[in-house]
Amino acid sequence: MDSQTRYPKIFSCEFFPPTTDEGMRKLFAAREALMRMRPAFFSVTYGAGGSTRDRTFQAIQAIQTHSGVDAAPHLTCVASTRAGTREILDYYRAQGIHRVVALRGDLPSGMREFGEFRYANELVEFIRAETGDHFHIEVAAYPEFHPQAPNIEHDLLNFKRKVEAGANGAITQYFYNPDAYFRFVDDCEKLGIDLPIVPGIMPITNCTQLARFSDNCGAEIPRWIRKRLEGFGDDRDAIRAYGLEVVTDLCRRLLDGGAPGLHFYTMNQAGPTLAIWERLGLTVA
Ligand code: FAD
Repeated sequence: MDSQTRYPKIFSCEFFPPTTDEGMRKLFAAREALMRMRPAFFSVTYGAGGSTRDRTFQAIQAIQTHSGVDAAPHLTCVASTRAGTREILDYYRAQGIHRVVALRGDLPSGMREFGEFRYANELVEFIRAETGDHFHIEVAAYPEFHPQAPNIEHDLLNFKRKVEAGANGAITQYFYNPDAYFRFVDDCEKLGIDLPIVPGIMPITNCTQLARFSDNCGAEIPRWIRKRLEGFGDDRDAIRAYGLEVVTDLCRRLLDGGAPGLHFYTMNQAGPTLAIWERLGLTVA
């Protein structure tokens, strides 16, 4: 994966927009603590269908105004219209936002139509057509492949469409098998895909929650990890300690193998991400 080693290393963190004021305070406290990593950006997810629109705006505005770190809102295709997306892009431009993460999203239950954009490549194309080079656009990548893709070749070519539509970088779905990432990057290189593909890292802190997320998004928890975690039962300290060991090792292998950074799915908590960061010896402040 020679192509990835030439990019400067980028570290970033992801939050979700909380539903309560208390949740928002926790997010801001996490953001404050994570500043020690000097991340390139903090991203905030967007509920497909616009369900979190105002809360995503609120979190993005607070990050952009108070942290001195770039805020990167996620945008999705679900239930979107060209006019509505244009409005959101105008709003973000007025807020001084320069980075977005463009996604398809998943249809919430009961919703049958995607909206005016069917796939993420169409959203990327629209953002470029409307705003030129204003935004640095990140897209999603799937080293273990997207669960709805009929086959690997199809998924890789669809990933390429997003790159050709104007994406600047990609963030992967989380995974625990570094070989899946290295092989994916090699496959991309063979297709002439040329952009940094940053691994998405999910710290392990809660066995049940991780299993639920993984079922939903198609990320595999290898059997040897799952069995160990199950063996700890309700011992949360043991789960956290083992998770820290496994995920730190994963990050180290990825960075040693040339990955151009790490994107942490923080779940709005600073502790697990910072623990990995410090174990990696990446402390910068
Ligand atoms: P796409 O790239 O559009 O791909 C979706 C599927 O369609 C794939 O199987 C692909 O092979 C296929 N496909 C793509 N293009 C075409 C085409 N032109 N023709 C035919 N088939 C095609 N979800 C949210 O709701 N909100 C978020 O904030 C959010 N943030 C995320 C951040 C990251 C880093 C990641 C990895 C995922 C995130 N998700 C989020 C989840 C994401 O929306 C889902 O995984 C969704 O199922 C796919 O989104 P995508 O942008 O990868 O879709």
